[in-house]
Amino acid sequence: MELRYSDADEAFRAELRAWLDRELPKLAPQPAREAWDERRTWDTDWQRRLFDGGYAGLHWPKEFGGRGASPTEQLIFYEETARARAPYVGVNFVGTLHAGPTLIEEGTDEQKAAHLPKILCGDEVWCQGFSEPNAGSDLASLRTRAERDGDDYVLNGQKIWCSFGQVADVGEFLVRTDPDAPKHKGISWLILPMDTPGIEIRPIVTVLGSSEFCEVFLNDVRVPVANRVGAEHDGWRVTNVTLKYERGTAFVSELVDAMRLCEDLAPRVLDPAERRELGRCAAEFDALWALTKRNVSQAARGTTGPGAMVIKLAYSEARQRFGELCLRVLDRDALHIDDNELVEERLRVLALTIAAGASQIQRNIISERVLGLPREPR
Ligand SMILES: Cc1cc2nc3c(=O)[nH]c(=O)nc-3n(C[C@H](O)[C@H](O)[C@H](O)COP(=O)(O)OP(=O)(O)OC[C@H]3O[C@@H](n4cnc5c(N)ncnc54)[C@H](O)[C@@H]3O)c2cc1C
Repeated sequence: MELRYSDADEAFRAELRAWLDRELPKLAPQPAREAWDERRTWDTDWQRRLFDGGYAGLHWPKEFGGRGASPTEQLIFYEETARARAPYVGVNFVGTLHAGPTLIEEGTDEQKAAHLPKILCGDEVWCQGFSEPNAGSDLASLRTRAERDGDDYVLNGQKIWCSFGQVADVGEFLVRTDPDAPKHKGISWLILPMDTPGIEIRPIVTVLGSSEFCEVFLNDVRVPVANRVGAEHDGWRVTNVTLKYERGTAFVSELVDAMRLCEDLAPRVLDPAERRELGRCAAEFDALWALTKRNVSQAARGTTGPGAMVIKLAYSEARQRFGELCLRVLDRDALHIDDNELVEERLRVLALTIAAGASQIQRNIISERVLGLPREPR
């Protein structure tokens, strides 16, 4: 394991720091939570700045317009952007973090040319239409039908928990193309333009009072067969490519953010027992950051260890304990502080042990694939 940064890494850090110092003061104030059009504009403006600065698609290969950065440079990027309190990818997360990388691995040349440049510069926002009301953990049970009609598929069904669906231009959608095959074998992965007739989007309000998710209803939606990524009925394999990127990258910047919030909470924590608890949270986040570095160090050598499997579970549960501590420290203040990041923390982190694979599912994966325990009965 190599945890030290090289001279070249430190040069990258200095260049990035200087760029952030120049760009961040130019940003407009962040829009209100429910101002969706403004949020889209704000997030895509940041994406455009990253693109112009040479920092968009940091982990994408150079031949597809990315920076082709080493895993260590990616860690430095997360450290520095968190230190400078730079914006998160926001509504661009599906496109930049997993739809784009899936197209790079599995898309045709036409699909890559049509979408990758637009994702990188913030011109195209993507959403994910995987989950359905009865297909979340057991995603392969999805029932949205895609029937072949000439050069089109005709889609009928319902998706749910589609993050930022109301501002997306395009979606990565899973549909059932063969209802008679075993459930993992009859699925296809489609690129769905979200302005296609027959798509109805209904936002769902979360506990934070924000409508970040949507239900998506599909009624006789026609999608060209040319929008399929991978072979017909082979969508489960393509899905695993998407999930590899989704679970691999989504939590690193969150972890850096958690370390920052620990520092923000510290001056308010006066009770000795709560100070001990805060110390424990900070130590856990620190240990997870060291584990992230180890995972990155292994990935750079082309290997993976159990660390990559446990990090999502360990991080999401540690962050929930921290969220509970925030509320205890604020006590009654939590009731009358408006727009407080620490109150939001308690509510927002409830979702972390569900999103991108629930904790129970992560435990199943660890017990079966890392510990070699017997498989769950199917
Ligand atoms: C913040 C957030 C953003 C999301 N964004 C998107 C998005 O953009 N697009 C999208 O398609 N989806 C999205 N999702 C949906 C997410 O993928 C699902 O919520 C998740 O896969 C769990 O599915 P479910 O909600 O149907 O719960 P269920 O699968 O119904 O699970 C309910 C409970 O049962 C447990 N359980 C289920 N099966 C087992 C088992 N075999 N063994 C033990 N316990 C089990 C689960 O762990 C959980 O506690 C998002 C979710 C969240 C929270």
